[in-house]
Amino acid sequence: MLMILVIGMVVAFSANAQLLTKTGSSLGIEYTNSEKKLSLEEVKRLNDEQWSALESDRASFGYTTDEYWFRFQLQGSNTDRVLHIAYPLLDELSIYIQTDAGIKTYELGDTKPFHERPIPTSEFAVPLPGGTSGMVYISATSQSSMRLPIAVRSNIGFFETQMNRRIAEGIYFGVLLCMAVYNLFGFVASREPEFGLYSLYTVFFAGLMLSLEGLGFHYLWPESIYLQDKGIPIFGSLTFLTAALFAYQLLELKRYRNTLGRGLMVMAFLSAASLVVGIFASYRISIHVLLILAAPGCFFLLLVGAYLWRKGFLYARIFTLAWCSLLLSVVANSLGYLGVIDSMFIQRHAIMLGSGIEILLLSWVLAVRYNEQRKERLAAQQKYNQELEENVEERTFELQIALRELQDVNSELEQKNMEDPLTGLYNRRYFQQHLERELRRTLRRELPLALLMIDVDRFKPINDTHGHMVGDQILKQLANLMRQHAKRAADVVCRYGGEEFAIILPETDLDDARIFAEQLLSMVREQRFETDVGEQRITISAGVISTSNRIFDNVDELFKAADEALYTAKNQGRDQVAE
Ligand code: GH3
Ligand code: MG
Ligand code: MG
Repeated sequence: MLMILVIGMVVAFSANAQLLTKTGSSLGIEYTNSEKKLSLEEVKRLNDEQWSALESDRASFGYTTDEYWFRFQLQGSNTDRVLHIAYPLLDELSIYIQTDAGIKTYELGDTKPFHERPIPTSEFAVPLPGGTSGMVYISATSQSSMRLPIAVRSNIGFFETQMNRRIAEGIYFGVLLCMAVYNLFGFVASREPEFGLYSLYTVFFAGLMLSLEGLGFHYLWPESIYLQDKGIPIFGSLTFLTAALFAYQLLELKRYRNTLGRGLMVMAFLSAASLVVGIFASYRISIHVLLILAAPGCFFLLLVGAYLWRKGFLYARIFTLAWCSLLLSVVANSLGYLGVIDSMFIQRHAIMLGSGIEILLLSWVLAVRYNEQRKERLAAQQKYNQELEENVEERTFELQIALRELQDVNSELEQKNMEDPLTGLYNRRYFQQHLERELRRTLRRELPLALLMIDVDRFKPINDTHGHMVGDQILKQLANLMRQHAKRAADVVCRYGGEEFAIILPETDLDDARIFAEQLLSMVREQRFETDVGEQRITISAGVISTSNRIFDNVDELFKAADEALYTAKNQGRDQVAE
């Protein structure tokens, strides 16, 4: 797209340039200047020696306060023609056409409202009807540089210059408008200040160019002589102000080089000062302030770009090229005015072309940089995510370990909770829970469940005689004996309390339970219990019941029955089994 635009502009401009060269015939113009204003009569009375011949039809005298007078003999022609002065920034311009019929006077210049112009164009033009001939006098003053490209053109020739010029300007300002609007949207969407600053920069640059080309006066502020007068310094200062801020934002100078950043801030400050001068001081002063700012400003921006280019930033390269493009066009333009390059094309269009390319390149810079930033952000996000993931993994691992430890402790606790500390047998609490479970299972499956309640016979005297330590030693060994005897996996031996024990025997009927109890009693009877005071012997009594020959509705009934059986065994003389 860039290429098409550039080619389009070049074609338009060169067509224009050729036309101008062809029609810009030598008119034999002479000029004179004076510090004080002269009237037409005074000028007419001047000697021929006071007039000098102009080398070309394009007069250029730089910045001067003098009034310049031009004269030439207009040859007659049958067709209608136009006297065309293609420079929009003349403050006062008077054209006198001395014909046989008398003097025709035109008062032009941009200190007069636009609608007073005989031909509405951003440049200056007066009609020369067919048959007009005679001496033409032109007087001009300007606070801008004194330039008068004077041409007499056929109506069609004039029309063509206008048409080509308007097309070129249309493309140029169209591009600027698009960039301004597009980047404004960019700013609204992204909230990145450089988009907003660039959009403003484009708007102000367009304002500057509109003022320079006289188009603002033509189309936008035809009644505002103030803006026509102040447009260039005001828009020029604003352009430099936004350019400095834009570069500051764009290149992230805070991060990379403080001095360059400070330089840009100074440039922004000076631009703001120039803006104040532009508003309040005369044009002559403010244009000089702006020009003093412009050259070092442009070079400084170039320098900043070049510095970051060397640092290896892709967008800094494009940034530098953009400013090069503008700077080259400004230099070419100045050389054109100085007469070093004798091309009307360069004089009139170089800045438009250079700044058009610059504006497009800067927009490209923004896009490239935005993309780079996006990538940076994405990479940072990925890194963050990865770290987060690792963190989570680590924490999960730690948590799993803690959980496992907790489980171990918990099961240990559970174990302790149902264990009797002295004998290592199940305790009374477990006995009750387990008996409940077993009874339910028994009812469901219709399998018998047997329960033994056991009590040591005459245990109190042993304790009383030898002490509790000895009693405990006996209880521990007795517990081991019972554990060995209850071999089946489902059998459960509990210490019910003191020297009382309970044995739960699932799937066991009364006969088997009785045999089991008798065997246990005889084992205890035979056993020699090792104690600190020598071997001791004890006997036990047991109450046995089973669901095989009696129905029990709940645990309490079951337990009560077994306890009663034990009581019976005790009553019947101990060391025996009762049912
Ligand atoms: P019997 O059961 O035959 O009627 O006589 P007994 O002497 O065993 O009488 P009882 O059941 O009333 O007394 C239980 C005694 O068991 C009381 C106490 O001295 C002893 N004893 C209870 N628990 C423990 C214990 O944990 N350690 C020790 N060393 N002795 C205990
Ligand atoms: Mg007892
Ligand atoms: Mg007892």
